[in-house]
Amino acid sequence: MKRSTLVKLTDRGLYCEQGDFYIDPWLPVKRAVVTHAHADHTYRGNQDYLVPEEGARLSRIRLGDEAKISTQKYGETATIDGVKVSFHPAGHVLGSAQVRVEYKGEVWCVSGDYKLMPDATAAPYEFVKCHHFITEATFGLPIYRWQPTEFIFEEINDWWRLNQEKGKVSVIFAYSVGKSQRIMNGIDRSIGKIFTHGAVERLTEAYRESGVDLPDTKYVGAVESKKEFAGSLIVAPPSAHGSQWLKRFGAHSTGFASGWMMVRGARRRKAVDRGFVLSDHADWTELQTAIKNAEAETVYVTHGFIPELVRWLNENGQHAVPLKTNYGDEEEKEELITDNG
Ligand SMILES: [Zn+2]
Ligand SMILES: [Zn+2]
Repeated sequence: MKRSTLVKLTDRGLYCEQGDFYIDPWLPVKRAVVTHAHADHTYRGNQDYLVPEEGARLSRIRLGDEAKISTQKYGETATIDGVKVSFHPAGHVLGSAQVRVEYKGEVWCVSGDYKLMPDATAAPYEFVKCHHFITEATFGLPIYRWQPTEFIFEEINDWWRLNQEKGKVSVIFAYSVGKSQRIMNGIDRSIGKIFTHGAVERLTEAYRESGVDLPDTKYVGAVESKKEFAGSLIVAPPSAHGSQWLKRFGAHSTGFASGWMMVRGARRRKAVDRGFVLSDHADWTELQTAIKNAEAETVYVTHGFIPELVRWLNENGQHAVPLKTNYGDEEEKEELITDNG
C-alpha cells in the first residue's frame, strides 16, 4: 500500500503541507480550514479561517468580531497552492462540513464530526469518495444504536406534557450549538412556551438568521414575572445544571439530551430526572455505513473509541489506523461555549 502524507497529524492539528493549511487546528496557525463551530474544532487565535458559509454565523459567534473569516459554500472548490479544497455536508450541526482535499488525483476526506440520521437543522450527510478517510469514533461501539428521532421527540413531548399536568416547569439540558435547536425544531411547539438560557438564545438567533425553522423563544433573563414560566420548557446548556440559575423556576423536572444517556450510569452521574438519547454523532451502524461508502483504501480514526473501531475495521477487511488528535466530545468543552455567551 502506498503511503501518503498529503494530510498528516502534527502537534497543532491535521496539516496539509502542500497547501500550507491546517484542518481544525488546536494550536494557533496561519491558515485554518474548519469543519464546524463546536469548541473542540474551532479555536480562537488563528490568523485566517476558511469555514463553510452555511455555518458562518456560528463561527463568528465562536471566534469574535476580530477574526479573519472567509467562507465557502458546500460543493464549491478553492485551490490553495494547487490543492483543491471543498466542503461537503456532515449532518452534524448547522453548517458542519467534511473537508475534501485533492492533490494530483489523490483525495482525502476529513469528516470532522458527523451523523447520518436526518436532522432538519443541518444539511444531510454527503458520501464523499476518497482514498483516505478520516473519521471520528465518539460512539464507536456496537452498543450505540440510535432509535428514530421521531420516537425521541415523542418522549420529550410526553415528558413536557406530564410535567405541565403536575404543575412543573420542564428544564432540558442540551448543547447550545446544534442540540438545543434540534430539540426546538422537533418538539411539539403547541404544548407551551419555550424559554432559553442566554448561551442558547444567542445561537438560536443565529440559527434563525441562517434560515432554520424554530419556534418563538424568550430569553429567561428578559422575563419579569416568574409566573410566565408556568408549564413552559426551558432550554439550557448542561453547565447550568445544579446552579443557582435553576432556582427561579420553582418546581421543575430536569432532562438531558445526549447520546450518552443510553448508558444508565451516565444518567445517574448527571443526576437528571430524565435522559433522552439524542445524539448529533453517528452511532455504530452509521459509522460503518459512512466508512463503507467512502470506499477509502485507508481509514484513520481520530477520537472516541479509537482502538475498538480500528480493530473492528481491520478484522472486517478495511485497512484502519489510529490517529490521536485533540478532538473530544462537545460535552467536555461545554464551558467554553458558555463563556462565549
Ligand atoms: Zn462537533
Ligand atoms: Zn468533536
